[in-house]
Amino acid sequence: MQSYSERYRTGDILFAEGDPPRGAFLIESGRVEISTTQFGERRVLAELGPGMLLGEMSVIDESPRTTTARALTDCMLTRIDADQFADRLAAADPIVRALLMSQLTRYRTMLATLSGHAAVVRGDSAMSAGDAFALDKIRLESELRTALERKELEVRLQPIEEIISGRIAGYEALVRWSHPQRGAVSPSEFIRLAEETSLILPVGDYVLVRVCEMLAELRRSGREPLPFIALNLSARQLEDDGLVERILAQLRERELPPDRLKLEITESLVLDHPRVTALMARCHAVGMRVALDDFGTGYSNLGALLALDFDQIKLDGRFVRALGMQRGAALVGVVVAMARALGCDLVAEGVETREQREILHRLGCQYAQGWLVGKPLAWTEVLNKN
Ligand code: C2E
Ligand code: MG
Ligand code: MG
Repeated sequence: MQSYSERYRTGDILFAEGDPPRGAFLIESGRVEISTTQFGERRVLAELGPGMLLGEMSVIDESPRTTTARALTDCMLTRIDADQFADRLAAADPIVRALLMSQLTRYRTMLATLSGHAAVVRGDSAMSAGDAFALDKIRLESELRTALERKELEVRLQPIEEIISGRIAGYEALVRWSHPQRGAVSPSEFIRLAEETSLILPVGDYVLVRVCEMLAELRRSGREPLPFIALNLSARQLEDDGLVERILAQLRERELPPDRLKLEITESLVLDHPRVTALMARCHAVGMRVALDDFGTGYSNLGALLALDFDQIKLDGRFVRALGMQRGAALVGVVVAMARALGCDLVAEGVETREQREILHRLGCQYAQGWLVGKPLAWTEVLNKN
């Protein structure tokens, strides 16, 4: 029967030091010895057996073989094409790729030193543009960790207005990072970065604690009725089973009414229905309200609205910007009717002009958020507006 594996006899050389890389091998059966020449003498580095890979390093960094592979017994080997690695490496997380390449570089340098050869490391393979980007990300991540420890993240509050009365009903908490060199780093950038690691959990907790402190201080300052503050939740936080309990513990500690804290879940996250259903049930049981954020931008899956009992829908600013067009206004009118039918509040995001607010009012949207009402404010500004 024709086999996909290649057969080698005892003593055959699979590849020798200095050969160009022509694929890697997976050992199906038999044993292979890996050796290198060190100061003129042959030195055995490893003896490999079934299930092990060999020759993959030269394939990955496209450099000549630095070792010799010889069959110690009769062997069956499956050849692995360079493209098979290349495709997967290209698809891999850039940080994982950068880690792999840096390990490879280090190994090559060590091997070159041991064998008395000049280093064969190729400068360009050690740091491609993609790697530089990945390292920049790792650097930013470390800096974010430090910023968090130093409490350098700022929580700003953007006012949300009840259109009919012009009253500020509440605020949305928006986190900011003033980086000493990079300047203001947008949350869209660093929240995504924090989400790639578990760093999002301490960032989320930091914002939660700040928001609770702010609510407590607003109450102390005599603000009546006490406005709500909305908190954005990220995917990783939703996966955390202890989240609602931690939120409640923060509220309880300050004797704050749970209905003054609102949770915002962005549309693309509600695809995980069972998790969001459980979270929402827990919130509703204690009187905490949950908003569907950025409505119209994610999957716009009406199934989410069918399955999940949101208290509020936040219409993405893209639709507000389209209000001047007949189609835009027609669409927003439909969303207003839908929200009303579902018994949800509707907040229009990104309201920048009086005309937009006027049209929203006419269409029956209750709340507006955006630069027209106010930009995200520093905490002292919120207190001084009292
Ligand atoms: P989002 O929750 O949809 O927040 C609204 C975004 O629209 C904010 O951007 C806000 O500054 C911006 N915005 C408000 N009014 C206007 C306007 O009139 N015109 C325009 N062009 N933009 C307006 P920001 O602060 O850059 O935040 C971006 C996103 O980052 C937020 O979108 C939210 O998803 C996320 N985010 C912010 N803070 C947090 C946080 O503490 N935790 C988590 N998990 N995510 C956060
Ligand atoms: Mg939001
Ligand atoms: Mg939004």
